[in-house]
Amino acid sequence: MASKFKLAVFDMDGTIIDGRLIDALSTKFGLYDQVKQIQSDTSILGYVKTQKIASLLKGIDDREIIFALESIPIMNNYQKTVSVLKEEGYKIGIITDSYGIAAKTMVNNYDLDFFTANDLIVNNNGLVTGEVNMPLGWDKINCFCRNSVCKRYHLETQANNYDVDTKDTVAIGDTRGDLCMVTHAGIGIAFMPKDNFIGRCKNIINRPNLSDIFNFIK
Ligand SMILES: [Zn+2]
Repeated sequence: MASKFKLAVFDMDGTIIDGRLIDALSTKFGLYDQVKQIQSDTSILGYVKTQKIASLLKGIDDREIIFALESIPIMNNYQKTVSVLKEEGYKIGIITDSYGIAAKTMVNNYDLDFFTANDLIVNNNGLVTGEVNMPLGWDKINCFCRNSVCKRYHLETQANNYDVDTKDTVAIGDTRGDLCMVTHAGIGIAFMPKDNFIGRCKNIINRPNLSDIFNFIK
């Protein structure tokens, strides 16, 4: 029997928020250049970059992550897009290589169904320890991505959770980190693509308006 649900998965940074959490956070604490240096180093695997960046955040109060999130505008028509997807019977979630504290806030604020994200470890005083729990998943499906969050693996996992066929999944993201998810979903959409990898996707939105995803969802 066919599932009664469909599934829509959004990346967070640059997709449902019009900016990047780590940029806002690292700018505030004078770490921007160090973060950019790690991000641009092609000799480091994706999940190792996540570990290195997390270690830079050691000692920061975890509330600063929420303050940074609140400093970033929500993408145009995000609320409307979520409302229409819900009416169409979609389960909706966020799969991000940003931090769980922020993704959970976005899920709560917009009444979404799930998130998968990196989990910064916080000590009893509310300070970030520099360690991070990563969802990974590429090791289980031999995905090329080697990222801290294999978005394809977690898309598949959520589809299984809700008993949704892959053909009934939609994935939206803006960078190479989203590539394995966007190319595997029933409908994959590159939203304001930031690099040449995600920029080669078939379905592309080139203006900052999330409701343009309905040009591709029938
Ligand atoms: Zn992957």
